[in-house]
Amino acid sequence: MKIETYRADFPMLTVRVEDQPMIYFNNAATALKPKVVLEAMADYYLHRSVNIARSVDALTYETTQAYEETRHTVAAFIGASSPEEIVFTRGATAALNLVANSYGEQHVLPGDEIVVSDSEHHANYIPWQQLAKRKQARLVIVPTDENGVVTPEALAKVLSPKTKVVSLFHMSNVMGATNPIQQLADLAHQAGSVFVCDGAQGIVHDTVDVTTLGVDFYAFSAHKLFGPTGVGVLYGRKALLENMSPVEFGGEMIDVVDVYDTSFAKPPYRFEAGTMPIAEVIGLGAAVRYIQNLPKAVWVDRVEQLTRRLIDGLSQCQAVEIYNPNNANSGLVSFNVLDVHPHDAAGIYDRAGILIRAGQHCSQPSMRRLNQQSTLRASLAFYNTEAEVDQFIQVTEQAGDFLDVLF
Ligand code: PMP
Repeated sequence: MKIETYRADFPMLTVRVEDQPMIYFNNAATALKPKVVLEAMADYYLHRSVNIARSVDALTYETTQAYEETRHTVAAFIGASSPEEIVFTRGATAALNLVANSYGEQHVLPGDEIVVSDSEHHANYIPWQQLAKRKQARLVIVPTDENGVVTPEALAKVLSPKTKVVSLFHMSNVMGATNPIQQLADLAHQAGSVFVCDGAQGIVHDTVDVTTLGVDFYAFSAHKLFGPTGVGVLYGRKALLENMSPVEFGGEMIDVVDVYDTSFAKPPYRFEAGTMPIAEVIGLGAAVRYIQNLPKAVWVDRVEQLTRRLIDGLSQCQAVEIYNPNNANSGLVSFNVLDVHPHDAAGIYDRAGILIRAGQHCSQPSMRRLNQQSTLRASLAFYNTEAEVDQFIQVTEQAGDFLDVLF
């Protein structure tokens, strides 16, 4: 099928920027949403805008079913053993905070160790750093290799009998590196630790099977997966979720509320306090079904091919330094135009109708690791085109030349 057919699914692709067709190369920040997602959400608001699980009328029942159907869809999509292992959260950030503040709070003791890498997103760094501080535990940093990967050898070196949690990215949002999760999770388990995986980027670029990967927790956001903002998922192994305490209290997450004590609902409901983002959960279900219907040659292979074309083109630009030339499967290229501040460069792209990310990418640890204040990041999705990539390369060449004259 022609790529134009898929592009027609995404209304945002008709937007113009600076009076030119928009080129959207900021997919790792948030992906565009297909019409089916917007329609599923509109259907909720137009035809069944009721709260879930709180009344006995038919409409409430149907809407509750639609919400719960997403749980089944997501469980099947990521290979969970049961829908009860799927907790809806506000996003990957909230999911990772939930693990740290519930599992971590209950199990990490003074003197214990928590392992994260030198290239985590703040969402998978600060919750562990703060937990370590609260608990007088030690935050242990495992270094990544030259391609940004945590190798099994590097992890083995930092594990100890004191390790209680290993929490690592699946795919890095700066280097686009993919960690060998199955091997890393195995090592963590051998050391007696749980393994938490930040899947915010990893879930987007290939099939994920949490059971094969052997992770205990896996966190991701809907909005990077062509779904809505405001919702995400925490997968947790049932045996672990069953022994975890909720961190938020309120409606619908309880069993019995006595005067001085409360017993809680079973997981996952125990972790979903108050009115949840119902439309967004329904939208997430539609997004997952949309991806499941895409040929892999489109949603996986095409991104890698486009990214290789981008890396090859940028490598020809004299003034460009690429930090991750070997991670094309991630769709993202991190680079700088030499001697030019990334925000100045981003302004040049903006005038050409191109949206990319400039800055620290919510990962100051990654910037330290690269020895850079900030970087540019172009991130592609399957709906991008070869022509857009070529135009991007041309604008980058001109940016280098233009700024050469200026400075
Ligand atoms: N981890 C990684 C690797 C990410 O790229 C992001 C989003 N930039 C997050 C976590 C946090 O996701 P969210 O902001 O959707 O909660």
